[in-house]
Amino acid sequence: MGVVDGATVPDALREQPHRRLNPLTGEWVLVSPHRALRPWQGQVEEVPPDTRPSYDPACYLCPGNTRAGGEHNPEYTGTFVFDNDFAALKAETPAAGMDVEGLLVARGEAGVARVICFSPRHDLSLPGMEVSAIRGVVDVWAEEYARLGSRPDIGHVQIFENKGEMMGCSNPHPHGQIWAQQSIPLSVRREAERQEEHFARHRRTLLGDVLRLEMDAGERIVFENDAFVVLVPFWAVWPFETLVVSREPVASVTELDDAGRDGLADVLKRLTQRYDNLFGVSFPYSAGIHQAPTDGRGHPEWHLHMHFYPPLLRSATVRKFMVGYEMLGEPQRDVTPESSAERLRALPETPRVKGGS
Ligand SMILES: [Zn+2]
Ligand SMILES: [Zn+2]
Repeated sequence: MGVVDGATVPDALREQPHRRLNPLTGEWVLVSPHRALRPWQGQVEEVPPDTRPSYDPACYLCPGNTRAGGEHNPEYTGTFVFDNDFAALKAETPAAGMDVEGLLVARGEAGVARVICFSPRHDLSLPGMEVSAIRGVVDVWAEEYARLGSRPDIGHVQIFENKGEMMGCSNPHPHGQIWAQQSIPLSVRREAERQEEHFARHRRTLLGDVLRLEMDAGERIVFENDAFVVLVPFWAVWPFETLVVSREPVASVTELDDAGRDGLADVLKRLTQRYDNLFGVSFPYSAGIHQAPTDGRGHPEWHLHMHFYPPLLRSATVRKFMVGYEMLGEPQRDVTPESSAERLRALPETPRVKGGS
């Protein structure tokens, strides 16, 4: 991988406090690398072994079980999708609203919330699944995005996974969610605006240009395959945050061909396995796909990508908190994105032997 000086971080910044711009959102992050020069304590914890059974009679996501609303799950063998019994969004929402002097403003929001079981196996998660099974998940994502997105009352489809108790995930059964709604939510609207500006000026996607610079620099790339590149973004906020970017500037998973979908499945398995190997624990994160809004407009500016936001900082239990200055000022990090990429790059993509280091 060739290194071009222009896209690597200059020495003057490497050990000095500085701010970095996130071009997707226009937000900044404060980087304080001098604070990370203190040697890590190398904390190693006893992580209790994963003792999940392959089937849990008390799990509302396992095949054949009864859910809270009284519905019975089928004896599914691959993926299984259903409307969330405790949905954050509902289709039948009255078009109510309020606006008091532009200060107290609210609007009714219609939508759909769905749950996707990735596997019938209660004891698996993405890194433990076969690539072919993960490909089945990718296909469901594409189907749901296309089906929900084609409805006139749905302007955006957010597909995401909340993994681990640390992220507030209440059920260890491998699953993700889809929230589809009328409005384009805040983060997506920001990214759409920034990508539109870039595309209008250059006739190229913003992330396509970022990818070109990152491939030249090399120092934030974690790994890649023929269809996707995984990198720690220059502007990462979370210690081991990554961005999964499609090589081709497609706007959604539905535009990926067979090889592209296989490529995404391959990347998901390899990235989550590296994450599990980082601290020897089933790695918690929130992750999701950012694809074009389904508001009926064309979105040539939109470039398919996934964000992984893991909270862990230096061990299986020591996490980053967004507190103090970060709540009142802006996000801050000590370890540089370059150091994080180096650590993730060095990790194996196969499960570590139990009892090994
Ligand atoms: Zn289960
Ligand atoms: Zn995004």
